[in-house]
Amino acid sequence: MLSTLNCVEKYFRVTGKEVEEAAKVINVFPFRCTEYYASLADRTNSEDPIKKTVFPSIKELQNHLPDDPLEEESQSPIPGLTHKYPDRILIVATNYCPVLCRFCMRKRNWKKQPFVITKEQIDEMADYIKTTGVRDVLISGGEPLTIPDEILEYLILKLKEINTVDIVRIGSRLPVVDPELITEKKLKILEKGEKVWLNTHFNHPAEITKASQYTIKKFLEAGIPVNNQTVLLKGINDDEKILYKLFSALQRIKVRPYYLFRCDPVNGVFHFATTIEKGLKIMKNLKKKLSPLALPYYAVDTPKGKAILFPEGAKYRKCKTGYLFQIGNSQIYIPQSP
Ligand code: SF4
Repeated sequence: MLSTLNCVEKYFRVTGKEVEEAAKVINVFPFRCTEYYASLADRTNSEDPIKKTVFPSIKELQNHLPDDPLEEESQSPIPGLTHKYPDRILIVATNYCPVLCRFCMRKRNWKKQPFVITKEQIDEMADYIKTTGVRDVLISGGEPLTIPDEILEYLILKLKEINTVDIVRIGSRLPVVDPELITEKKLKILEKGEKVWLNTHFNHPAEITKASQYTIKKFLEAGIPVNNQTVLLKGINDDEKILYKLFSALQRIKVRPYYLFRCDPVNGVFHFATTIEKGLKIMKNLKKKLSPLALPYYAVDTPKGKAILFPEGAKYRKCKTGYLFQIGNSQIYIPQSP
């Protein structure tokens, strides 16, 4: 596990200036990466996408946006549970991740004391779910598949017992950043849950390796459907050819690409955002080349929910400093990319 900048040169092509700047950044937003994920980087490429995903950039200190613009915490009836949509809830099971992706929309949690959901919290959440009739539960983090197996099993079986719950989605990037950490025991627990789906998060074709492919196969063999969400990231994957390669490769390994998100206007993250128009243009061109099964929805997340954008007739309008989206009866402002 890499958590200091001491041996980053072994994996990434970095200049002395970049390391110096990164040292300032990690006082605010720490650095952590698995050796597996770092080993995917091309050491000869200073613009390598894996490097850009994990290596701290001084740009992270250059915007001063809200930490939680999607208002997950203010829409939280009990700590660790966000209820934004009538039929769905989000459970944040931990704030620990073995790889700290620089574009993480929950970067605010990196600064908090390490936490893992407890059995008491799970009981309280289960009672809440029963009273609200929620049918779709997303377990995210941090990295939810790093929580102790005993707690994971307790959570999964608790949700299995609730009649209204039809689906339990695990939002995990572990198959991407360290597939070997998905043990047979974890897979057995998830299989026992019966309602479990995996929502994983590949952003670039370089992340699809033999090891990640093998792990995905294990999920599928356990009867767990696998979907993928990607974030559109400036300098990493904001290119039609890269995304074509990514979505085709995902389909080849039986992973359904279901969302392409615009990067959220989060503090320390927004330098990765592209313009909305750039995403629409990429989608328009991909639509000509990929079948709908390989084509995700392009979406912008807002405090009131997701706005799905279609290349023809997107429901938003430009204003002086950003965009105005109509979500139900509300008009939501989203800033322009820097
Ligand atoms: S794995 Fe997910 S939660 Fe963890 S740092 Fe990356 S994007 Fe954030």
